[in-house]
Amino acid sequence: MKYVMKFGGTSVKDAGYRKICELLSDYKKDKVVIVVSALRGVTDSLLEATRKAELGDAKWVNNFLQELKEMHRTFVIKSIGAVPAWLQVKLSKADYELEHVLYGILYLKEATPRSVDYVISFGERYSSEIAAATLIENGFKSKSFTGGEAGIVTNDRFGEATPLMNITRENIKLTLLPLLEDGVVPVVGGFAGVTKDQITTTFGRGGSDYTATIIGNAIETDEVVIWSDVDGIMTADPKIVPEAQTLPEITYDEAIEMAVIGAKSLHPRALEPVIEKRIPVRLKNTFNPTHPGTQIVDKVAKPFPSVVKVVSLIRDVGMLTIKGASMVGEPGTAARFFDKLAEAKINIMMISQSVSESNISVVMKRQFLDKAYNTVKDHFGNETKQLHLEPDVVVIASVGEGMKGTPGVAARMFKAVADAGVNVRMIAQGSSELNISFVVKDEDGAKAVKAIHKEFIEEKVKT
Ligand code: ASP
Ligand code: MG
Repeated sequence: MKYVMKFGGTSVKDAGYRKICELLSDYKKDKVVIVVSALRGVTDSLLEATRKAELGDAKWVNNFLQELKEMHRTFVIKSIGAVPAWLQVKLSKADYELEHVLYGILYLKEATPRSVDYVISFGERYSSEIAAATLIENGFKSKSFTGGEAGIVTNDRFGEATPLMNITRENIKLTLLPLLEDGVVPVVGGFAGVTKDQITTTFGRGGSDYTATIIGNAIETDEVVIWSDVDGIMTADPKIVPEAQTLPEITYDEAIEMAVIGAKSLHPRALEPVIEKRIPVRLKNTFNPTHPGTQIVDKVAKPFPSVVKVVSLIRDVGMLTIKGASMVGEPGTAARFFDKLAEAKINIMMISQSVSESNISVVMKRQFLDKAYNTVKDHFGNETKQLHLEPDVVVIASVGEGMKGTPGVAARMFKAVADAGVNVRMIAQGSSELNISFVVKDEDGAKAVKAIHKEFIEEKVKT
């Protein structure tokens, strides 16, 4: 079998990359490509470093460079026991280049999207060098690559690049397939690629999943395995619902729906390359590797007994409502409202308008709420419309393909929630019918999740 396996920052913890060597002993007969993301917290701190450099804070930047060096060194010792001289040479080269680019930003006091991408790609450059070295020191044949070296070519949308799949596919086949034939385990740094002109780009936060599925598509792998520190996708957060259970399978559509509503941490675009070739993705736990995890597939082998598969609680959101009798039958109000929010680059998660047309509510991440309020207020200030803010709300999102075309799901859901004494502030259903989302007050969130989980999942699925 051929696998692409991605290891995230939380998947290794105390054992360091020795963990990968241990796990690979179960895949001795297989061909495996490893994709790693940066060590935990590194991408965040690199981003912070570009900001401090832009502000001219040389002291902070120098301190940071020192700490980053030490952190990686500690991780090498955790993984290998010592720092092999040949690895030190490679790490020092990366240190040197990172230092120079941050000094460039310090002198210019300007961090363009292009330079930010270059800086934040270093997290995966370090981690891929260290992972490959750990494999080599443990007797594996291995070789490290940056995304660009492996052959990933993207457009030039820095910070949110899209791979140019035709060239990428050909490149990756040429670089990685011969190595796999030779029994080498290639290690590719996730998150980044290069433009046709060899300028470094990144896929957006969490983009290492995307790297794994792009490579999976290129080499036509049997499965992409995403390793983390949980058993897979659960029917609910076990901290809220102790009866929650791991789902053996979900479909691509359900996974996309979850990514879109922000309920799960798979990179939203990461599924495109595997859907195209119907390659399954498996989410597994490095600390419980015998657990089969959750497989994401085109069609499930065994239908889940409940129409609702996952109930999620999405925190840190807020709701903005615009009301006014003057909106009734007045075309263009909604358009202007959304236009202004779009101009302010505010991403809207949910929308609803009452049939009376006298109000429109939108839900967004809480951090954008003030900006949204001010933007809309500036625009509609002279009109007789009221704006209303609710910062203390959460979204409850239920996902399941079985809801599609099944009458009465919403009725059952809202009855269960009402019976739990929870007041629903706003409701939206995507036209895909794969998800029903609604807004409740912060303090009612857990109650609503429990009520739905009980009604749909616990009553149906006996463990
Ligand atoms: N290191 C990148 C991030 O933190 C990519 C990833 O972890 O998948 O966003
Ligand atoms: Mg991630």
